[in-house]
Amino acid sequence: MANRKSFDEICTHPPVVEVSSVASAMPIYPASVYQCESTSQADRLLSGEIEGFAYQRDGHPNAVALAEQCRLLQGGDNLDVAFSHITSTGMSALSLAMVTHLKSGDHVLLSDQLYGRTTRLVDEELARWGLEFSEVNMCDLDQVKAAIRSNTRMVVIETIANPLLHVADIGSLSEIAHRGNAKLLVDNTFATPLVVRPFEFGADLVMESMTKIMNGHGDVMMGLLCGKADLAKRARDALSSWGMTSSPFDCWLASRGLATADLRIARANENASCLAKSLAEHPRIKNVYFPGLPTHPTHEMAQQVLGGQRFGGMLSIEFPGGAKDVDLFIKVSQKIAFCPSLGEIATTISHPRSTSHRGLSEESAKRLGISPGLMRISCGIESHEFLEDEFKTILEAMD
Ligand SMILES: *Cc1c(COP(=O)(O)O)cnc(C)c1O
Repeated sequence: MANRKSFDEICTHPPVVEVSSVASAMPIYPASVYQCESTSQADRLLSGEIEGFAYQRDGHPNAVALAEQCRLLQGGDNLDVAFSHITSTGMSALSLAMVTHLKSGDHVLLSDQLYGRTTRLVDEELARWGLEFSEVNMCDLDQVKAAIRSNTRMVVIETIANPLLHVADIGSLSEIAHRGNAKLLVDNTFATPLVVRPFEFGADLVMESMTKIMNGHGDVMMGLLCGKADLAKRARDALSSWGMTSSPFDCWLASRGLATADLRIARANENASCLAKSLAEHPRIKNVYFPGLPTHPTHEMAQQVLGGQRFGGMLSIEFPGGAKDVDLFIKVSQKIAFCPSLGEIATTISHPRSTSHRGLSEESAKRLGISPGLMRISCGIESHEFLEDEFKTILEAMD
């Protein structure tokens, strides 16, 4: 056995390997801390005066690389996207937006069709810190105008709202928010910047749950928050102080996922479009909600906002027999799994009433049109033939 001193020289203080060749893949930097050259350099690094790394919670190369990719995808300097932060989850990206900009006494106006946890973040958590909130149907601009209060500081919407996939008029909503001196926070998870860049329409803050389509492989929890210069310093400090930062390995995986995002999204969007058309004709199904169908309540808005090419990879269908029909679908389905998430390689389904929207009262669910027979489909990147066959077999077996 080596003596303790030589063990220390080999193992506790290993030689640094300098790599001068360019690696074909981004290295992973798991280091929690970096060596500083001097006290003044440490001081300047930690204050943000100079670029570099000192402590992983404040920033690490894998997060910086991924954040910059995402900033550019969201519009970069052309759309004045000043900051981009990778966070531990989508929820921490939303939390970061809120703790960065809001304080007690402020009012937050929420869409009445948000991801369930987003509403709970505001009504269960932030409400305890003295924030006011209310909810409104963001498709009704007059109602939105009327709901703005003198202390409204933030309006929160989703580009394509879960689960009926209503597409928001981001441009008008940002004008209304700005007239009231409020910021518009857009959750762009269902769209991604490869379908629409909300900053083009005046958004102030854009978040993505990278857990979903952006990473796309169902093996990472992660969020993204991008915003304008006026909030850049606060966001940077809040990210570290509230401890919302990401892990290097997860950033590395997400960056790899991002490399195929355009191909994946193109295929998933085509699949959703084909499936929506064929399911709309099916006698076993009562309603199909897909923003690309002319029958969808926000089809025109979807064409304007999403640009008329891609309409997202999500669709929802309604069975006449309620949750019983959805359970039957789950029972007879061999390959399409009931996974209450979205944006993965494989097509999955979810049941909003028992998962994402389980917290709604009977009355609210009815008003929003979220019935027990509603099933949400997240299209994967399978061939179209596979999906058509699979759905045909399942729907036949349900009879
Ligand atoms: C999943 C999701 C979130 C939350 O993201 P996590 O990564 O699960 O924390 C927020 N908004 C939408 C629309 C989502 O689908």
